[in-house]
Amino acid sequence: MITRRVLVGLAIVAAVIDAATAQGPQGGRGRGEPTVPPPTIREYKPKSTLVVPMHPVPRAKFPVVDMHGHPPPLTSADTIASVVSAMDALNVGLMVVTGNPGRISREQMKQDLEVLAASPHKNRFAIFANIDVRNVAPGYGQMAAEQLEADVKAGAVGLGEIMKDFGMTAKKADGNRLKLDDPELDPIWSTAARLNIPVHIHVADPEPFWEPFDYSNERWLEMALFPNRRCPPERCPPFEELMSERDRLFKKHPKTRFVLAHLGWHGNDLGRLARMFDEMPNLYVDTGAVLYELGRQPRVAHDFLVKYQDRVLFGKDSYAPDEYPYYWRTFETSDDYFDYYRDYHAFWKIYGLGLPDAVLQKIYYQNALKVTPGLPRGAFPK
Ligand SMILES: [Zn+2]
Repeated sequence: MITRRVLVGLAIVAAVIDAATAQGPQGGRGRGEPTVPPPTIREYKPKSTLVVPMHPVPRAKFPVVDMHGHPPPLTSADTIASVVSAMDALNVGLMVVTGNPGRISREQMKQDLEVLAASPHKNRFAIFANIDVRNVAPGYGQMAAEQLEADVKAGAVGLGEIMKDFGMTAKKADGNRLKLDDPELDPIWSTAARLNIPVHIHVADPEPFWEPFDYSNERWLEMALFPNRRCPPERCPPFEELMSERDRLFKKHPKTRFVLAHLGWHGNDLGRLARMFDEMPNLYVDTGAVLYELGRQPRVAHDFLVKYQDRVLFGKDSYAPDEYPYYWRTFETSDDYFDYYRDYHAFWKIYGLGLPDAVLQKIYYQNALKVTPGLPRGAFPK
């Protein structure tokens, strides 16, 4: 029988072991404190002394469809020309406009379609329609489905990006949170299937946003820079509840092709994404803004992308021409230990996956052309 004295003794021993093995911020063990004040994580930027072959890739090896494009509003011929010249340098043959954040989607879509129709570059862009997920009331789904059909007649070739407010913050007219699998929206998803267009959807955010905001959190810096991205229980529905609603939605509409943005935020657990692919043949993902996940596990990510080469589409998300080459280098080369472009996404270096040409071609453009029959094909090999 364990007595109280033994328990107290065990607790003391545990505390002593704890103190002896306590690790400093750098994981050092038993080396005492720095003799000068340590830098903050923003200040400490050591220059790598590693000398290895480096193969920057300014231009993709094959033409690319950017399936998750947020270019500047295509309101003038000048803007279009400047985006196209950046795309030319990168070998991005086609940009799918999945919305311009901050603008009313449907108006923007109509305006984009009009301006593009008159542009010599109309074959370099494709426009997706969108839906408003606020104040959904009975009858909304049918109405939105009819609107979607009209938008597709007008030239839209897909639906989305449906943004993360769907699921996270959007409320129904009755004041309840609009769940991702709310049956009111079913007519929209089945209409997308009938019209043979994909649905591009962003669900939730990186899981660490739901975890305690402390020094063990991989996204500490981002959560410190953008406090509104933190997801304490009083602000956001639980992460796994959103994942369950999402998966039920995808399974309920097996004839609808869903392109889940940002690797579904499962880039840190590709085994989970693999199981989702196996369970849901109508599921595709894009690579937007999660390169740091693939690049930190080059061997696992390589094998994953080879196995699921028909399910992953290149997407960039935020528009910054100088960031695309990080993707080319990660996908195409076997370079070691190079910089990623955004320190608050990831504090680590990344590695090239060295993907075979056949897989690159699928991820870069073939899958996008297959998933989205309405895309202009002029910029791509037959
Ligand atoms: Zn986006």
